[in-house]
Amino acid sequence: MQIDCVSVWEQCLKLIKNKVPDQSFTTWFQPINAVKLEGSVLTIQVPSQFFYEWIEEHYVHILKESLVATIGERAKLEYSVIVDQGAKNSSPYTVNLPNLNTNSHKNDRVKRLLNPFELDAMDQPTDSQLNSIYNFETYVEGDCNRLGRSAGFAVAKKPGTTSFNPLFIYGGVGLGKTHLVHAIGNEIKANLSDKFVLYVSSEKFINQFIKSVQNNEVQSFQNFYLQVDVLIIDDVQFFAKKEKTQEMFFHIFNHLHQSGKQIIMTSDRPPKDLSGLEERLLSRFKWGLTADLQQPDFETRMAIIHNKMEAEGIIIPDDVIEYLAYTVDTNVRELEGVLISLIAHSSLNKREIDLELAKQTMKNIVHDIETEVGIDFIQKTVAEYYHLKQDDLKAKTRKKEIVIARQVAMYFSKEYTNHSLKSIGYHFGGRDHSTVIHAVQAVNDSIDVDTHSRNAIDDLKKKLKVKNG
Ligand code: ADP
Ligand code: MG
Repeated sequence: MQIDCVSVWEQCLKLIKNKVPDQSFTTWFQPINAVKLEGSVLTIQVPSQFFYEWIEEHYVHILKESLVATIGERAKLEYSVIVDQGAKNSSPYTVNLPNLNTNSHKNDRVKRLLNPFELDAMDQPTDSQLNSIYNFETYVEGDCNRLGRSAGFAVAKKPGTTSFNPLFIYGGVGLGKTHLVHAIGNEIKANLSDKFVLYVSSEKFINQFIKSVQNNEVQSFQNFYLQVDVLIIDDVQFFAKKEKTQEMFFHIFNHLHQSGKQIIMTSDRPPKDLSGLEERLLSRFKWGLTADLQQPDFETRMAIIHNKMEAEGIIIPDDVIEYLAYTVDTNVRELEGVLISLIAHSSLNKREIDLELAKQTMKNIVHDIETEVGIDFIQKTVAEYYHLKQDDLKAKTRKKEIVIARQVAMYFSKEYTNHSLKSIGYHFGGRDHSTVIHAVQAVNDSIDVDTHSRNAIDDLKKKLKVKNG
């Protein structure tokens, strides 16, 4: 028995790993132990009540899917929560998973047709495939997304009748494309309940299409999609080189567009850079409005952190919010990963979230965020090289030898990390980004004219590279 539950859980973990970001997997799934398997009931042990609640709220569908795939349709999950760390004899707390499969179709018009979403046993057959937590209230507005957000809102009010058809949203990973299009879909459903809104990822569309070809059901596949009033199709860059799928999409697109139906698409790049897509399809994409999402600026990151924590019912001090907004400046998904780790750390160690905990958490995950060495390591290495203390680099002093070392450390922070100028300045005693620009310039100038400086930089490069390699 003992062996069984462990191997079943290992199977599940393999499936789960493919479906959640690495960060979340490490935080939420690795600490779980399987404790018993009785019939098709698997009992897992989680470290705290909070863990249990978080998993139920965020990962219950993924857990259910992986369990069903591993043990079969009748799979059930029970939790055993460790109430007090170390106390093994705590009485288990058991909860059954909701049965998702009772969630049948409400929309009769759709039910009569073959529904490709039912072809995948792993999918829950819900109507719109929309996630209700992605809505406009939770989507923080900033300069980075103003155009996309307001165009999306206009489309949500009058789908198919604005000139924003198709609406094409593009931007890098984790900048909020998927969230925004779900928000549009949810808004339409809330105001116009008779509209059939459908969200589908391009990968799923491609797979459904391939399956329909294999099963001789291409016509049904097409008919299903022609019923849709608002078609949201995510990450169309994956259509590249899939010629047959593109052809099918082209027909569906034209038909829907001509009948005044709304089409919303996302992509990780603008239409002009979508190589591998047919010209006629690309020119269709340009009919409506193309809006891009940019990286959020500091203030928007502050607002996002604030909102996310509030939504989780957690209050964190302003200096922590500020620290995180400065430090994590790549994209919103990464920011969320850090917040989740922070919450987990605070819960597991039973500690209030404060600046120190935030810094510790960042240290643990900093390797994921920075591609190479971190600012901290650079400061230590440079300080040691110049026989100074790391704190000297952050202090106010303008002594010449300290100024030089500080400039060199800033220079390497710019070269070797992904931090913005603003963030680098922040890590050097809260200096301005223009100070960093000046430092980088000064070091570059001195390398050009002064052998002594050039040698110092070369030496330091070697020391810093040790960590890289
Ligand atoms: P993309 O599809 O562009 O890769 P997502 O839409 O999946 O990005 O966004 C990644 C995460 O960041 C999601 O959890 C999303 O809720 C969050 N997010 C992105 N932009 C915002 C925003 N403006 N306000 C609040 N949350 C955001
Ligand atoms: Mg996405």
